[in-house]
Amino acid sequence: MADSFDVVIVGGGPGGYVAAIRAAELGAKTAIVEKDRMGGTCLVRGCIPTKALLQSSELYSLAKGGVEFGLVTDSLTFDWSVALKRKSAVVDQLVKGVEGLLKAGGVTTFRGAGRLGARGTVKVGNDVINAKDIVIATGSAISRIPLAGAELTIDSDQILELKDVPKRLAVIGGGVVGMEFAAMFAALGTKVTVLEMLPQVLPMVDADLVSVYAKHLAGIGGAIHVNSKVAEVVKAKGGLQVKFSEGGGGGVVDADQVLLAVGRSPYTEGLGAEEAGVKLERGRVVVDEHLRTTAPGVWAIGDVIGGIMLAHVASYEGICAVENIAGGGDRIPDYHAAPNCIYTEPEIAHVGLGEKEAKEKGLDIKIGKFPFAASGRALTLGQSEGFAKVIADANSGKILGAHIIGPRATDLIAEATLAIQNGLTLEQLDLTIHAHPTRPEPLMEAALAAQGRAIHIPNRRSAAAAAPAAARAAEPEPATGVAATSKAAPVQNREQQMVASVKPPTSPPHPKAITPKMLELTNENRDFLLKLHRQMQFIRRFEERTQEQYTKAKIGGYCHLNIGEEATVVGGILPLRLTDYIFTSYREHGHAIARGIDPKAVMAELFGKESGTSHGRGGSMHMFDADLRFMGGYGIVGGHLPLAAGGGWAVRYKKAKDVVFCMFGDGATNIGAFHESLNFSKVFKLPVVWFCVNNRYGMGTPVEAASAVADIYKKACAYDMESIQIDGMNVREVLLKTSEIIEKTRKDSEPRFIEALCYRFKGHSVVDPDKYRSAEDKEKFRKADPIVAFEHELEKSKLADEEYFKQVRMEVDAEVQDIIRYADESPDPKVEDLYKYVYADEWEQRPELRGDPL
Ligand code: FAD
Repeated sequence: MADSFDVVIVGGGPGGYVAAIRAAELGAKTAIVEKDRMGGTCLVRGCIPTKALLQSSELYSLAKGGVEFGLVTDSLTFDWSVALKRKSAVVDQLVKGVEGLLKAGGVTTFRGAGRLGARGTVKVGNDVINAKDIVIATGSAISRIPLAGAELTIDSDQILELKDVPKRLAVIGGGVVGMEFAAMFAALGTKVTVLEMLPQVLPMVDADLVSVYAKHLAGIGGAIHVNSKVAEVVKAKGGLQVKFSEGGGGGVVDADQVLLAVGRSPYTEGLGAEEAGVKLERGRVVVDEHLRTTAPGVWAIGDVIGGIMLAHVASYEGICAVENIAGGGDRIPDYHAAPNCIYTEPEIAHVGLGEKEAKEKGLDIKIGKFPFAASGRALTLGQSEGFAKVIADANSGKILGAHIIGPRATDLIAEATLAIQNGLTLEQLDLTIHAHPTRPEPLMEAALAAQGRAIHIPNRRSAAAAAPAAARAAEPEPATGVAATSKAAPVQNREQQMVASVKPPTSPPHPKAITPKMLELTNENRDFLLKLHRQMQFIRRFEERTQEQYTKAKIGGYCHLNIGEEATVVGGILPLRLTDYIFTSYREHGHAIARGIDPKAVMAELFGKESGTSHGRGGSMHMFDADLRFMGGYGIVGGHLPLAAGGGWAVRYKKAKDVVFCMFGDGATNIGAFHESLNFSKVFKLPVVWFCVNNRYGMGTPVEAASAVADIYKKACAYDMESIQIDGMNVREVLLKTSEIIEKTRKDSEPRFIEALCYRFKGHSVVDPDKYRSAEDKEKFRKADPIVAFEHELEKSKLADEEYFKQVRMEVDAEVQDIIRYADESPDPKVEDLYKYVYADEWEQRPELRGDPL
């Protein structure tokens, strides 16, 4: 039979069937040829079945955490066969739907493999169809690689038909498909290990988003190995083994199933493309900017032409192609706002330019970030991981890119896509009323943050005086209602915007209260405990790298590290509310990070850069952040104690319920200011918690030699003050005891004293040769390393293993390297501005302070 059509589409995927419906709408007599099921990869083996199964795994993991939401159930199990059945039903319904749409649209369907014949013909079995125009939409097929043992692996089609949920799954390939299956099975309790050859999984995604996902996966027992090349897959006792090389070494992953997910390739098998004059290049059909192939009257769209291999892009190209056919051909596809959605947990979505890409292009950009932890809707959902980030042109404010990791990021990206497609600016986005409480609000807040006008997170060095309200909004418990009366803070200059107003990705959430129960080493508390561990590890790495930078002369003056004191740093600061005040010593980088100051700003400060917490004026001796009530350190030993007493006096005077937390070392307890401050706080009943980090060697002198009372907490007795001594190497003890003391002081406004016994692994400052401590002493305390001790506890309770700790170490190191890069690239303060900010921003108004700079 020969039949004639205006347009014949070969391939019924989202490219082909959408093109067919549109062509018919435009009045063309249209046919579509499909050799398998209508709907293509997307409906049958891709987008739809995976998302149907991901819905099952998401529901399961939500239900597992349901106790907190009031769900009561004796036991919860997962039936994979039911999930598969549902997945098939969803697919069947959609395939039928597409078939119905084609029929209703008047499109003729041919079943079978289509082959391009003599000019203007397509053969399907014995049928020859004549066509004025032909559209190739044959999609893509799974890529294979020559891997020893590949026959033992399964692909993305086969994994959708597994009979059971595997206990252990190795995923070769950290692309979108691999990571979605990793997320799905990890949520179902499978131990998932991803092996990726490149330095990052999901290479098209900004690194800060990937690290949030990696952290989540690690938190539920998964692992990612990057820079890892798989050598072979072999059978082993009880399953399979994947052998891989990683850096100089290598490893083995035991698995029940191995998913090989190394991408997809354009598919033209049996199409007779080249014989028909259609040029192929490395398998893909070559098209011009209007989607025409090299053969007259033959067009191509979707995965088969390469480029962005996504369903919605295929559909978009399908519409462009047939509109070109109908209208004479002047539509050129525009991909600058093509969104990419990745259905991991949390979901990831991005559109437009990435941060790295924008910088590589040399664009002058500004960036705004907003964490879901500060979103009311995210908290009500119990899904507060991740953030929204926008990238905009620094001058025009035109939005160039948006990147979201968080709850239903894949839905949220639509707003940013619309904005980018239509060239909207940050201001146009934030002037749009966003319903509250909803998931899209963080995008609006990110747009505000990029302009230094965020409402629900503190703006760095903003002139806005609304610090407490802003700080409170970052705490999980208060509502984050949009305050209609809030005034916008003045827009900041470019240097100020360089510091994104985000909490460090590593901070554990600020809990409402620390209870003994939440510190128990149980599965229920795993997430919180691992976050604590991660933050300690992050601060350790930050300090180690800081030392390196000091030796490279990137940091001037003195530099004091707190390596070994991480349990006191994290455990001491976390129990504070964001409305409490911190006065701390100059050994304070970790304190600042634990408080929530962006580590980039901390490192930039050490580097003396304009984007540092004190605009590069404080150096290594004074971090400051008014929004977070971080009053920072002070260059003279113990010099901040009277300042803390003054802070306590101010709180008392205001009749507020805030606590002033003052951290200092044992060296500071031998000076007059210490005694005066303690005495003053007691006499006037000031709400100050004095927290002595006794690292036993103060300024380099053993505490026994420097102080008549070696147990420093006893000194507080002289002022009739409640005082305790705690194990400063045990983060859980520090957290609990400190929290109890803080809350008592909050209640009765009585000062109290804590002595945390610990040990600093470095000398007094980076350049201190540290000769006064015996090797025996050092060895003894190394064994009590607070991070290692905590890791032992976590390991013993089966909450984490060495592989996890290794992964954390790698991830935090990457984060810190990024931070150093940022600090390095940050601008220096301008000479003419050197006195700015030094006198509480008042310099302009106080001529008596002016002198000649330098
Ligand atoms: P296809 O969907 O591959 O359709 C091509 C069709 O042509 C097929 O039905 C095939 O049978 C038919 N065909 C081939 N040769 C012939 C011939 N000679 N004659 C007749 N018929 C022929 N993309 C997203 O955007 N979002 C996602 O969430 C997503 N998830 C995915 C998950 C997985 C596991 C996979 C594998 C892919 C996923 N994708 C996703 C990618 C998406 O499926 C593809 O980009 C999309 O299907 C491409 O559409 P297409 O029309 O170009 O080709």
